[in-house]
Amino acid sequence: MPETVTKTEYKPFTMTKKQLASEEFAFVNGNKSVMIERIADGRIPGSYLLKGYVESKERKGTYFQVDIVISDSKHNSIPWSNCTCTSAHYRSNPCHHALRMRDVFLANRNNMLKAVMRR
Ligand SMILES: [Zn+2]
Repeated sequence: MPETVTKTEYKPFTMTKKQLASEEFAFVNGNKSVMIERIADGRIPGSYLLKGYVESKERKGTYFQVDIVISDSKHNSIPWSNCTCTSAHYRSNPCHHALRMRDVFLANRNNMLKAVMRR
């Protein structure tokens, strides 16, 4: 079947490093590729909700808005994620920005958990 040309292309929402410079973050990793705005206890016991920004690999200095839920009790799985990148828009699996945010959480777990906002 021929490809349709009328399909509207998804335009990913991004922020620049400059735009994010004035924001306050609960956690920023060493190379500033992952900036966490908020860490909260998730609705399911033993889960955490992380909201923040993850830098694009292809376009340095450009960030996607990423929200993930990490399940501590289920081997750090990601039961829910949302990202403004194109991949997340078209696929249901967590995109690599969601995975990257999860990995940064796991690598900096103790510091991150100090910043958890208890509801
Ligand atoms: Zn993404």
